[in-house]
Amino acid sequence: MATKLNFNHSLEFEYGRPDLLAPQIARIIANNPSPITFKGTGTYIIGEKEIMIIDAGPKDKSHLEALLNFAKDKIITHILVTHSHADHYPLSYELQKYCNAKIFGHKPDFRDALDDIGEDMHGFIADIEINDGDIIENNEIKLKAIYTPGHSASHFCFELAEQNALFCGDHIMGWSSTVILPPDGNMTLYMENLQKIADLNYDILYPTHGAPISQPNNYIKALIAHRQERDEQILKCIKEGIVGLDEMLLAIYPDLNPALHPAARKNIQAHLMRLIDLGLTENIWFD
Ligand SMILES: [Zn+2]
Repeated sequence: MATKLNFNHSLEFEYGRPDLLAPQIARIIANNPSPITFKGTGTYIIGEKEIMIIDAGPKDKSHLEALLNFAKDKIITHILVTHSHADHYPLSYELQKYCNAKIFGHKPDFRDALDDIGEDMHGFIADIEINDGDIIENNEIKLKAIYTPGHSASHFCFELAEQNALFCGDHIMGWSSTVILPPDGNMTLYMENLQKIADLNYDILYPTHGAPISQPNNYIKALIAHRQERDEQILKCIKEGIVGLDEMLLAIYPDLNPALHPAARKNIQAHLMRLIDLGLTENIWFD
């Protein structure tokens, strides 16, 4: 019996409107909807007077104006980037022109890796390189960087311990499973870091795309089981002689939106690499 994943496709929002989701946590969604970004990039603004901004988003003038308008009587002290995908970081530099905040994040390890699905990983450079466990704080807010490679080799989540909450970027999304695109994406690490987040027992996750996820541990368990089922499907394909990526794609995702085929193809590659890591299939590589 296949694991039932309860994806949440509802999201209360208007583009450009700040929504207060919890004390000290506001979100503004950028108008960049797509089959991968859902309704768009959710930028989180943490704090009341001294604020930190997580994932400023794509280079979009109206999103910049919305962020600046929200911040007009506040001080932006930090600009944080969960990872170097193009829907997360480019507006950081525009925002920085209006404040003295430094940009915190981790440089991409595979700058050219995602060109084939149209993502631009060339540009991200952090002012301050972060590491697992780093504390990032101002007079109001204290966040902890949690290293979570998998979706991207440079992916970090940010923990707000005071609310037992995690800003989880694209590591976990409420509306869909996360795409893992090798070589920057790594399914073996992804699975380990799903478990890492489950072990940290957060009360709530705030993903960049989609609604917050309350009491997330059962959901994370289901995500892990879902990936294990995908492993099984791929092993079954191999056993049945379906070894080409395109054939596997049709066998595994018969009803998928064609716009998502390149990402799904990469996802199968990611699973194959994990199966090789686990010693469950031979060390073969499909182009
Ligand atoms: Zn991403």
